[in-house]
Amino acid sequence: MKFELTEPNKQYSDSELIDDLELVAQKLGKNWLTQREYDKNGTFSYQTQKKRFGSWLKALDKAGLEQGKRSWGGNYSETSIPEKQLLEDMQRVAKKLNKKAITIAEYDKHGQFGSATIIKRFGGWNNAKKAADLKIGRLYNSSDEDYFENILHVWQALGRQPKYQEMIAPLSKLNISSYERKFGTWRKALEKFVEYVNLKDEPQEPKVTIPNHAKPAIVHQKATPLKPVPIKEKPKKRTNRIANLRQRFRVMKRDGFKCILCGASPATNPGCELHIDHIIPWSKGGETIEGNLRTLCSNCNLGRSNKE
Ligand SMILES: [Zn+2]
Repeated sequence: MKFELTEPNKQYSDSELIDDLELVAQKLGKNWLTQREYDKNGTFSYQTQKKRFGSWLKALDKAGLEQGKRSWGGNYSETSIPEKQLLEDMQRVAKKLNKKAITIAEYDKHGQFGSATIIKRFGGWNNAKKAADLKIGRLYNSSDEDYFENILHVWQALGRQPKYQEMIAPLSKLNISSYERKFGTWRKALEKFVEYVNLKDEPQEPKVTIPNHAKPAIVHQKATPLKPVPIKEKPKKRTNRIANLRQRFRVMKRDGFKCILCGASPATNPGCELHIDHIIPWSKGGETIEGNLRTLCSNCNLGRSNKE
């Protein structure tokens, strides 16, 4: 463990801590960091990060590093966590939010583990909810989202709406018959998908909060004139760093499922992978809104971040 004073760390902003995580990940060429790797290469200690963000996973999440978390495979470092602990954490989150059912997004925000770990362990989010005695939501549950995520994956690989006979492995991770079982027909699945991506996102406008000491205080008339109190800026509530399914689909569709810099697309360039990039980097205050997002191929995207 690195020696460091506990107090002075407070002078570092969240984004400085986050930037440092990113820097180390970039240096090591990884999108995931262990605490040990960070301690060896980082400016701060992993404990500073943990303290600031609540847990190591949350720190990684802030830095957008935990790509394994929402991926299909789940998070390899969480495979040994007992089922009971996973379920208890789901229940804890539900209780905290005072809800009978929780979504994947809610869990990812408040949970201790990755939702993918839980989905993998219980064979689906609904199964996990059942095991945790939580209610199964009705409108769109996690398994809907898994189906939609897969449609997005195939859609962007083809650069257009996938056809029934194209929903096959390895391109499609889910079987066409499972779509039929769930939605009735492939057409209906597509309709549901479009309905889903066209839904408005929950409002994410930054909340403006007035710090207590900035509010006019009731002062007796005779009191000495108030000195201006330096107002500490409160960190604004920000959008999530990672674009959600809806945003990713809309941005890629807007950009024609092509890299807007070099024009590469998975449909024409095998091996090409499309990324969603922040025009103004999130770490520099750029928000995750469609106007600040664009489609880049992995080459252009990585070339870009190396130059920075
Ligand atoms: Zn490109």
